[in-house]
Amino acid sequence: MKTQELIASSKQALVAAGQQLPIMEAFYTIQGEGRFTGYPAYFIRLGGCDVGCVWCDVKESWEAAKWPVLSIEQIVDEALKFPGRLVVITGGEPLMYDLGPLTKLLKEKGFTTNIETSGAHPFSGDFDWVCFSPKKFKNPHPSIYKHADELKVVVFNKSDFAFAEEHAAQVNPLCELRLQPEWSKVARFTPEIVEYVKNRPNWKVSLQTHKFMDIP
Ligand code: SF4
Repeated sequence: MKTQELIASSKQALVAAGQQLPIMEAFYTIQGEGRFTGYPAYFIRLGGCDVGCVWCDVKESWEAAKWPVLSIEQIVDEALKFPGRLVVITGGEPLMYDLGPLTKLLKEKGFTTNIETSGAHPFSGDFDWVCFSPKKFKNPHPSIYKHADELKVVVFNKSDFAFAEEHAAQVNPLCELRLQPEWSKVARFTPEIVEYVKNRPNWKVSLQTHKFMDIP
């Protein structure tokens, strides 16, 4: 094997082991949606997604090979530069990777760990809060249901209400249920979501408040 091929294959092995991960971006901001809305949080956006949502607002994340691969130590060192100790791992689809090593190191350094995932790959990692946001474009892996602390369904079509109930029937009874209008459909679906939640109080409304605040 040539030297470059050897380097590439050892890098792939480290990614497969979750010791190195492709990072599209990482930034400190305010969590805008879901259970931790309003909390300062450091977002780690992993590159790579094979779900293919038509309305995806981070399509540039899909191709993992476009993004630099960093060691988990480098990733955590960057997070430690900010005062907040809440980390949100997102993507892309973060569960494409073994998140065990990264979350273990984050917790050793005192972080609370959250994930936002479509659940399309086997669950991994040590998370304090799991936000499961299933997508119609790729079925969730069954392992997500028992880990989900929050089910957040994006409403883009009327049929998404039935889709939301289908998944609500599979999560554990303590899982919080949220309906969130897709950003381009806020005006169309917010009134319907409001009425839906008023009539089915096991659900809550979630809004992408960071978009109203014009922050990432
Ligand atoms: S799962 Fe997320 S990153 Fe992947 S296509 Fe859907 S919205 Fe985009």
